[in-house]
Amino acid sequence: MLKIKNYINGEFLEPNSDSYLDNFNPSTGEVYSKCPDSDALDVVLAVTSSKKAFVKWSKTGAQERADWLHKIADKLEEKFDEFALAETTDVGKPLWLSKKMDITRAIENFRFFASKILHKEERSTTMDDGSLNYELRQPVGVAALISPWNLPLYLLTWKIAPALATGNTAVCKPSEVTPVTAFMLAKVMDEVGLPKGVCNFVFGSGKETGSALVNHPGVDLVSFTGGTETGAVIATDVASQFKKTSLELGGKNANIIFKDADLDKAIETTIKSSFLNQGEICLCGSRIFIQEEIFEEFKESFVKKVKELKVGDPTAEGTFCGPLVSKGHLDKVMSCIELAKKDQGVVLTGGKSPEDLPQDLSKGYFLEPTIIDELSDCSELQQQEVFGPVVTIRSFKYPKEAVKWANTTPYGLSASIWTKDISRAHKVAAQLDVGTVWVNTWLKRDLRMPFGGVKASGLGREGGEDSLKFFTESKTVCISL
Ligand code: NAD
Repeated sequence: MLKIKNYINGEFLEPNSDSYLDNFNPSTGEVYSKCPDSDALDVVLAVTSSKKAFVKWSKTGAQERADWLHKIADKLEEKFDEFALAETTDVGKPLWLSKKMDITRAIENFRFFASKILHKEERSTTMDDGSLNYELRQPVGVAALISPWNLPLYLLTWKIAPALATGNTAVCKPSEVTPVTAFMLAKVMDEVGLPKGVCNFVFGSGKETGSALVNHPGVDLVSFTGGTETGAVIATDVASQFKKTSLELGGKNANIIFKDADLDKAIETTIKSSFLNQGEICLCGSRIFIQEEIFEEFKESFVKKVKELKVGDPTAEGTFCGPLVSKGHLDKVMSCIELAKKDQGVVLTGGKSPEDLPQDLSKGYFLEPTIIDELSDCSELQQQEVFGPVVTIRSFKYPKEAVKWANTTPYGLSASIWTKDISRAHKVAAQLDVGTVWVNTWLKRDLRMPFGGVKASGLGREGGEDSLKFFTESKTVCISL
């Protein structure tokens, strides 16, 4: 059985407590690896190591740091298939998706920031008396990088790459639910010979390991992606120490489909935005609003196509949905469906485990893609994030209705608009309280653009220049000439 170890100061170490958490294969329900249950002492070791490494790493040139990131990316490319299979086994996501999205984008994260850091620009101004001001952007220090279970390697590298590129050192706390590819990444860093302590990995639960890390006074910056409730705890923890913090949190995203949309394209993409990665992507559009003139046509075709999606073995060709990540999460999603039924929701398809699973997958955490119609407005399901393969559909008459409903949740992460009328798309996009709006597409991501949410979906922006800004401190130098 795979026994994961912490990676601290260039060494693979057992946790101080010598205790481990079970890590399950969601396709079979079996424990297949052990994840360290690290405590505050492990965190102290890691932070101390990162603090020490910062002294030298922060002074290396941008080209040298870029070279290190490329070396890591090269190794990930070499081990691409191994990483993709590991991600699929750990999370349950289809193998084609691990390849197309998770591992590919993880490599892109390293390559992008390796290049970005070489083109860093700083401001300068001259004053009427000839005085010169210039801005220095310097690394912040030790970065705590905390990631969730749904896109494990992709989201962790989204933090590691800019943190290291800008001269910070890091302590990573990957999700205890899906720790395997982070452990493999630690091995890659060891293999390429990244200087000791530049990137440490401490595995364990959020409440103990994560909390000890966030609260450690040696940590200067926290980049967190995860649930809104956890984000609130972290925001409180960091407040009294004034740590630079970025919070990328949950979403309850709307998908607004106008009557003039290219319906075939809208349906094809809405299937993905609803059920890709089993709906376990913060950007999935879980509330679908369709203009009333095309509602019945959309509904009939959408339901028919969703019924045809293959749910099962994530390594098998043609599988669209694998299992949900854990038994606990499956139970939570099922309870949301029950709640919807109580609130007069009508399940058009799904809502149960597939019946034709082979014997070896019979204990896996599978759930058919679920579409719910006629759900009452005040139902909690219209407000709270499910983070699974469950969407609601609803018709609207006027654009302002759709905008109002889209904005009526505590969240504000993203939204999609489907229309051929570019002026309408522009007006509606401006009215939506979210961090990202897609028009006639979904999940297209340009790493140069800012990413983040408003309201309960988070604080701050990362991506492109915003990442460079977040991971550096600005200092103004004024010279009287
Ligand atoms: P989670 O909040 O339970 O855990 C995320 C990470 O935080 C894990 O590593 C966990 O161990 C750690 N953690 C938990 N409590 C902590 C604490 N008190 N202090 C420090 N660390 C702590 O989230 P999850 O269940 O792993 O992920 C699902 C959530 O993540 C969903 O809400 C989803 O929308 C969100 N998410 C958001 C984005 C985004 O970019 N906005 C991307 C992916 C996922």
